[in-house]
Amino acid sequence: MLITVSFNFVFLKISKKIPFLKNNNALAACVEFLKRQAGSLNLPVEVVYPAVQSKPVVIIKWLGTQPVLPSIVLNSHTDVVPVFRDKWTHDPFAADMDEEGRIFARGTQDMKSVGTQYLGAIRLLKASGFQPKRTLYVTFVPDEEIGGSLGMAEFVKTDYYKQMNVGFSLDEGATSESDVHHLFYAERLRWGKIPLVGLQTD
Ligand SMILES: [Zn+2]
Repeated sequence: MLITVSFNFVFLKISKKIPFLKNNNALAACVEFLKRQAGSLNLPVEVVYPAVQSKPVVIIKWLGTQPVLPSIVLNSHTDVVPVFRDKWTHDPFAADMDEEGRIFARGTQDMKSVGTQYLGAIRLLKASGFQPKRTLYVTFVPDEEIGGSLGMAEFVKTDYYKQMNVGFSLDEGATSESDVHHLFYAERLRWGKIPLVGLQTD
């Protein structure tokens, strides 16, 4: 099923509090936002700090009907790259939408749009009565833009990660300017193409 979902402007606006390298309050705001999302999906959420207290990893879990099977991870990152305001036609942290429906917000493509689409897809699937066979984890990691050494690199060493029994993971890819989206695996290796046919949701 292919879907498009409305962007969550709250998530995008939180970026303004994350000036690239460090701002504990900004990531704390992300954590609280994601906890509320998990609550609205009626899914358990946990926060772990694999490296330091200022770098939280948020994990939302959708238990599968056969939880002994290897799980699926849908990963995205909460940090964004720096802003050069003189290059922007809109406030990069206002999440403005113009008359053509384009959203202007630092971190939208890379990659809060992906994180929100994971959650939007889960919301629609749950509403349809779907239950996954494998347990699904939606992970939100910090530190990706500066190498992940205090984020995913440490998270995968934790007992928490090991007990997740991950069999497959989807992560960041690349954007498309057409109605065809390229699927990637590993570090942006092209895997296939899918046509985009949207179902607009409110
Ligand atoms: Zn990214």
